Amino acid sequence: MLDKLRRIVQEVNEAENLPAALRVIVTNVKAVMKTDVCSIYLIDPDNQQRVLMATEGLNPESVGKARLGEGEGLVSLVLERAEPINLENASEHPRYKYLPETAEERFHSFLGVPIVHHRKPMGTLVVQQLDSRTFDEEEVTLLMTIAAQLAGAIAHAEASGGISGLKGTRHRDRPFRGLPGAPGVGIGLGVVVYPTADLNAVPNRRTDDVNGEVQAFRAAVVATIEELEAQKKRIEHLPAESKLLFDAYLLMLTGDSLVKKTIDRIKEGYWASTALRDIVHAHVQQFEAMDDAYLAERARDIRDLGTRILVHLQSKTRGPRQYPKKTVLVGDALTASDLVEVPPEQLIGVISTQGSGSSHVAILARALGVPTVMGAADMRVTRSEGCTLVVDGYQGVVYVDPTKGVISEYNRLLKEEQELSAGLETLKDEPAITPDGVRIPLYINSGLLSDVNSSTNSGAEGIGLYRTEFPFMIRDRFPGEEEQATLYRQVLNSFDPRPVTLRTLDIGGDKTLSYFPITEENPFLGWRGIRISLDHPDIFVTQLRALLRASAGKDNLHILLPMITSVSEVNESLELIKRARYELIDEGLVDIKMPRIGAMIEVPSSVYQAAIIAKRVDFLSIGTNDLVQYLLAVDRNNPNVAELYDCLHPAVISAVQTVVRAAARARVPVSVCGEMAGDPAAVILLLGMGMDSLSMSVVALPRIKWVIRSITYQRARELLEQALTMEDSQSIRSMLNREIEDLGMGGLLRAGK
Ligand code: PEP
Ligand code: MG
Repeated sequence: MLDKLRRIVQEVNEAENLPAALRVIVTNVKAVMKTDVCSIYLIDPDNQQRVLMATEGLNPESVGKARLGEGEGLVSLVLERAEPINLENASEHPRYKYLPETAEERFHSFLGVPIVHHRKPMGTLVVQQLDSRTFDEEEVTLLMTIAAQLAGAIAHAEASGGISGLKGTRHRDRPFRGLPGAPGVGIGLGVVVYPTADLNAVPNRRTDDVNGEVQAFRAAVVATIEELEAQKKRIEHLPAESKLLFDAYLLMLTGDSLVKKTIDRIKEGYWASTALRDIVHAHVQQFEAMDDAYLAERARDIRDLGTRILVHLQSKTRGPRQYPKKTVLVGDALTASDLVEVPPEQLIGVISTQGSGSSHVAILARALGVPTVMGAADMRVTRSEGCTLVVDGYQGVVYVDPTKGVISEYNRLLKEEQELSAGLETLKDEPAITPDGVRIPLYINSGLLSDVNSSTNSGAEGIGLYRTEFPFMIRDRFPGEEEQATLYRQVLNSFDPRPVTLRTLDIGGDKTLSYFPITEENPFLGWRGIRISLDHPDIFVTQLRALLRASAGKDNLHILLPMITSVSEVNESLELIKRARYELIDEGLVDIKMPRIGAMIEVPSSVYQAAIIAKRVDFLSIGTNDLVQYLLAVDRNNPNVAELYDCLHPAVISAVQTVVRAAARARVPVSVCGEMAGDPAAVILLLGMGMDSLSMSVVALPRIKWVIRSITYQRARELLEQALTMEDSQSIRSMLNREIEDLGMGGLLRAGK
């Protein structure tokens, strides 16, 4: 059963459009449940009517026509109660409403279950039977399981087609919803980043070079035949039946069907990989529809064979890509290296179907100033290649091939945004000082050299967080001491003599190195940050020596230790830093000052130990991105819980205040380098707490400077006092947003997400 269910979900996911997806569901569910009817009603968001969207068993003519009002019929009752309704004789129920166009009067028994996606009721899945009987518990739970499994797939298809897209057309002015990743609006052409050796991930791509594609495909087929023959040879000594699979594969490749059909598809103007994907899928679907265990197995063979050909195709066709002038990068799980692969001036937008605004890809995108939408789960990545995409990083929405109206509205917004930036530009050389004279230095977060260089002119007073893992991520091996020292020296030079804080390697979690794979069930609670560095003194000491060498003759190096969870980690790190310095001095590099050492406070345990940690270091830096995730138990990358991730949660405010007080008692400076420091509303509270400095993306800096120059420290303290009496983040945010409006900075609220 599980296998069948999995197959239905996969087929639904592969369906061209909403009607096709729904047809797959009703046909399969009717067969699996052995009922006379299976139908799906979906809620039309425009008028809340329940529309019969697909049926197997009722009059097919009534699809799209049979509609029930919001409180009408059993279909609505299922949704009101949000539970299954199981009736022996439906027409006897007081809520039964007869829809003549469906010709359903013949069917007596009725079982309806709600289709709910992320708390949102989407519709009702119904099975009916001619005879009067109640469905047994197993049948009820089976239908519930099917509805629960299919809810996501239906939401997916609905987002692509919309309920009124009965003919399979999509509303071009209806966006796909995701989460804000990096602010701004970008309009450009989709370029899909996809994993290799995965037929499902191949994007829809057209070609102008049909002959070239046919040749590439033929070469891949020849390579696959050679590979299969070689494999067959290797098992020559085994009994004949072991070789049958190879013979079957070879037959498929030398026979007409798969190869010829793929070539025909290429000739329709498709890229070889896309054509292969389509033909393999068509074959697979044919086999699977036969509902026979042996033939289902053949479907698996065809998919396997298709993947083998694809691997050969991709080994020839990958390599450096040409990117359009205005590239919007689209992918399921984009990585930081995917972003830096695109020439910076050509990257104008990023869309990831996974992750959230706190994912590292989003953080990097913010640092680069590239509008980004994360967690756009319903978007079909493979269909975005070459499409015009509007990325609205403020609201977290994406439009695919939108209408002219949508594009001109966004062009207007882009213009407004440029005006706002130009207004803020005038503050560049002004200090970040409140009207009542409290000064808070503003630093920038960075991780790429290009971005450091462009930010020297941003009005920042130094670098508050340089994430050294980013340069590690874009290489194919650990960089050596010399290589690292050269890079760090450039970073230190950029703001010399102003402070530059380089954080030691913080890999693990969602930051992986291709050449140092870490596979864990729970990477954010696993081997991460300082834990890896201390377990690998070889890697750590190389980095420390490089940092210290880079600082020779300078006095602006600050070293920051990530993911500190206990005092012993600080002690051990300090020991290694001192040792590395003595080693270098011994080797003759005399002018190496002891850098200022800081600890990141980003784990709840270190909040409670902030006072003891502060005694051992020169500064504290609060990493709110991780602190929020660990304090609220909300994975920073998981779009399903992204709404719960909020730096204004009262528990977060209280934790940050605890750290500020501990630092003040120990007389060490404290700053925030998480994204909270770039949130105009949150900054009011940080100011009120007496934060010594703030570090943020270069894009957020002008806005935050504006906030600080507009609100008095006194007023910020009053607002903090009020916030501390509030019970939830929504009330706190509303109060702070009102203040921002009153200060005449409402424009920031939209641009300040
Ligand atoms: C943080 O956790 O707030 C932080 C600044 O570090 P990162 O986002 O790199 O984990
Ligand atoms: Mg962190």
